[in-house]
Amino acid sequence: MKNFNFKSAASTKEASKLASGRATFLAGGMSLIPALKLRLAAYSDLINIKNIKGLSGIKVSSKSIKIGATTTHAEVASSKEVGKSIPSLSILADGIGDPQVRNRGTIGGSIANNDPAADYPSACLALNATIHTAKRKIPADKFFKGMFETELKKGELIEAIEFEVPEKSSYVKYPNPASRYAVVGVYVAKFNKEVRVSVTGAGNSVFRSKELETVLSSNFSAVAIDNVNISSKGLNSDIHASAEYRAHLIKVMTRKAVSSC
Ligand SMILES: Cc1cc2nc3c(=O)[nH]c(=O)nc-3n(C[C@H](O)[C@H](O)[C@H](O)COP(=O)(O)OP(=O)(O)OC[C@H]3O[C@@H](n4cnc5c(N)ncnc54)[C@H](O)[C@@H]3O)c2cc1C
Repeated sequence: MKNFNFKSAASTKEASKLASGRATFLAGGMSLIPALKLRLAAYSDLINIKNIKGLSGIKVSSKSIKIGATTTHAEVASSKEVGKSIPSLSILADGIGDPQVRNRGTIGGSIANNDPAADYPSACLALNATIHTAKRKIPADKFFKGMFETELKKGELIEAIEFEVPEKSSYVKYPNPASRYAVVGVYVAKFNKEVRVSVTGAGNSVFRSKELETVLSSNFSAVAIDNVNISSKGLNSDIHASAEYRAHLIKVMTRKAVSSC
């Protein structure tokens, strides 16, 4: 690991001001610190954002759940309000990594990192989330750009993520047995006027499946998925699963998700 300066911000304004040049934000450190240790990334300054008041916490209304960026996965998983309003979101948070990761890792860090196999990005797409940054509001559909790439500009701080409350929803993943990252994870959300289906782990970034959304919009049932053909073209192929197996898993996970809605 290369040397860096450690700075702690007391406000979002101070964090944004400190984040110039080769600086980056430090939240739970669950992804950033290993990247630094493996020399996959190097920064001159790490700006600790965990002490910023108001950046953590959960606000629930009848239409949405707004979660502060430094809220940990464990806090989301154990929130009674989240469990009541969008149970699938609690289940997702409870299935991330292990207790250590869930007690340090944050929702803001997870989506800023945009790991292709991360869970929260799929919730953002399926639940039509809005990403609130210190500068603007970004719809989830425009936020995830590619592998570890997002719409965030240099030094742009995520303040909160706001999820729309669906009529019903479910998230099911086939986890890697070691890390618990998704080999394939599917999030299905049924709203009054549309069905949204997002897939993580299968491609170079999270994506929505238009084929599955179209079929489920006209017939929201597990059997409706039988006639959908999921192409393996462009899907990930690695030591964990071939592209063809991932295409198969997308259908299996979707069927399970719809059945458990
Ligand atoms: C062993 C292990 C298993 C894991 N398993 C899973 C899993 O099953 N599913 C899953 O989804 N994830 C998994 N993770 C990742 C975990 O969820 C991390 O918490 C997450 O990827 C990063 O969150 P963090 O708060 O630790 O961010 P950090 O590591 O502190 O930061 C990650 C990146 O986000 C940036 N960042 C952080 N906060 C903000 C912000 N508010 N605004 C802008 N940029 C910000 C940082 O600058 C950095 O570039 C695992 C991690 C480990 C180590």
